[in-house]
Amino acid sequence: MSLLSFRGGVHPPHYKEATERCKVEKAKEPTRVVIPLQQHIGAPCEAVVKVGDKVKVGQKIGEAKAFVCAPVHSSVSGEVKQITKMLAPTGEAQCVVIESDGLNEVHESVKPKGDLANLSAKEIIEIVKEAGIVGMGGATFPTHVKLSVPPDKNVDTIILNGAECEPYLTADHRLMLENPESIVFGLRAMMKGTNVSKAYIGIENNKPDAIESMKNAAKEYNEIEVVGLQTKYPQGAEKQLIYACTKREVPSGGLPMEAGVIVNNVATASAIGNAIKTGMPLIERICTITGKGIKEPKNLLIKVGTSIKEIIEQCGGYNGTPGKLILGGPMMGHAQYTDEICSTKGTSGILVFTPEEARLPEPKACIRCGKCVEICPAFLQPIYVSAYSLNNMYDTAEKYRALDCIECGSCSFICPSKRPLLQSIRVAKREIIAKKRKSK
Ligand code: SF4
Ligand code: SF4
Repeated sequence: MSLLSFRGGVHPPHYKEATERCKVEKAKEPTRVVIPLQQHIGAPCEAVVKVGDKVKVGQKIGEAKAFVCAPVHSSVSGEVKQITKMLAPTGEAQCVVIESDGLNEVHESVKPKGDLANLSAKEIIEIVKEAGIVGMGGATFPTHVKLSVPPDKNVDTIILNGAECEPYLTADHRLMLENPESIVFGLRAMMKGTNVSKAYIGIENNKPDAIESMKNAAKEYNEIEVVGLQTKYPQGAEKQLIYACTKREVPSGGLPMEAGVIVNNVATASAIGNAIKTGMPLIERICTITGKGIKEPKNLLIKVGTSIKEIIEQCGGYNGTPGKLILGGPMMGHAQYTDEICSTKGTSGILVFTPEEARLPEPKACIRCGKCVEICPAFLQPIYVSAYSLNNMYDTAEKYRALDCIECGSCSFICPSKRPLLQSIRVAKREIIAKKRKSK
């Protein structure tokens, strides 16, 4: 099997051994969930329930009032206790707090959507939207927006990201082994919804069993090709995955659609499959709980809104004093200063480092080795973008294409002087975007 890849990238240790063979277990039923009304890029939802309301599983509790927005639904049955601003994984957000009655009564709106053959493209996209489906690789971008191809764009390919290139994470790997049919079904629905006739499922070659499993599930469908990718970070980043599978390049500042491609995660496809077959919106997901700071690493199916602290307790608790808590993978995930927060649709991993692992080495002066330039998958010169950012020269950082940085962290990983490259580039991006918004 030939292995596809992209230029640049790094080879961090995988650290997947602790959970790659752990079958997905259902997490304990939460007694209380905290569901943020904003879990993604775009506009927040508006609450459509009030304190004291009784809600059921799958009931819509937050309505999307903008195009780039996905509704949110209750993951339990019970009573709405509070609607208030609380700390969520991506910062402070308006949250709906629901106390579970433990009955798990399903809302009347949750019904199978019928045979895929009888659904029109428009109906499929409406189902995806109403089910609140977002990119489950971590970015949580509303999926119906990605699938709504404007008439002036010519999209002919869908790529499913099964690379799971972040170290430690094995949630997608387990999904591909344990429920490959739901992924293929969801992919076929996406293809019908966008009128696309070719699809790839890209999987890194450190998961040969997942490649086998997906090939088997897709064997009846000639239009779906399962491809092995070189194990290299960030193989699952959109532009890099598109290049690896199709050799097409997305122009600077452009979207995958400009290369005729839509990219989605395998878990997103599975959520679409589930929404069509059962009618259940996106209320739970598989999450990898791992790292040396966790006593019993696991893959758990967790309800959106479950307390991170409770999830960690189900994994035997902390192994000594935790040094660092990250939601997502170690390269692109978000560090948290407390475990008193809830899981969201994007919580692909809960990673706990020991204090020794978390200790950051003191940055030293740049030795001009050029390694960061050599490995940058976006073909940037991180050394310069970072230096301009650190000197508040954001206009110059923009000229050096700071906005094309995909925030993969490969430059910080490879730098022998341990320069805070990604952190400073992120600052430049934030400043450039803020200036652009102001001038509008
Ligand atoms: S500059 Fe951005 S895209 Fe390039 S390696 Fe660093 S984080 Fe990744
Ligand atoms: S990798 Fe680090 S030391 Fe080497 S050129 Fe880049 S910033 Fe300088």
